[in-house]
Amino acid sequence: MARYKDSVCKMCRREGMKLFLKGDRCYSDKCAVERREYPPGQHGKGKRSKFSEYGSQLREKQKIRRIYGVLEAQFRKIFAEADRRRGVTGENLIQLLESRLDNMVYRMGFANSRSEARLLVGQRHFKVNGKTVTIPSYFTRSGDKVAVADKSQKLTRIEAARQAGQRRGLPEWLELDSTGFVGTIKMLPVRNQITMPMNEHLVVELYSK
Ligand code: SF4
Repeated sequence: MARYKDSVCKMCRREGMKLFLKGDRCYSDKCAVERREYPPGQHGKGKRSKFSEYGSQLREKQKIRRIYGVLEAQFRKIFAEADRRRGVTGENLIQLLESRLDNMVYRMGFANSRSEARLLVGQRHFKVNGKTVTIPSYFTRSGDKVAVADKSQKLTRIEAARQAGQRRGLPEWLELDSTGFVGTIKMLPVRNQITMPMNEHLVVELYSK
């Protein structure tokens, strides 16, 4: 399977903002964006270059792709689906990205980052509505229950993630049961519930050319 090979912190520095790709470290003073607020590379310390209209659209698309850890071809497919659905394409796009199982696992606090969530999903640690799902890009729906498999509940990795997840807090559209191992998607989030700065309309403009 294709995957990113570059340092993930470089991606944040390239975008000039925290993308929260490394779990707890992102909330500490070890974060590379906190320590070096300039882009990576030899000329990074110079002024950030101004982008053309096309450049800004492209940058924004890359940023959103990186936040959710989605490869180009997958992103295109998700965009096509967002465009096909009723409503505002940009908002549909963000909602579809949010509904991916890897994102839900991360949001529920069962993984420290979306990339860790992808790994854990592939290793059969999660069930959706009682059935094991190993596809990180699986689209969840409102009312779905995502559970940590019984045999996986004692995993150190998942326990550490749960503790970090409690510090991050649970989004209002999700709910955990009393055991803390079963999350319910009360509703898929609407755009204004996602606080990460993203200009999805630039992606729509980019793909509408
Ligand atoms: Fe980005 Fe997290 Fe690295 Fe900071 S620590 S640069 S937020 S991935």
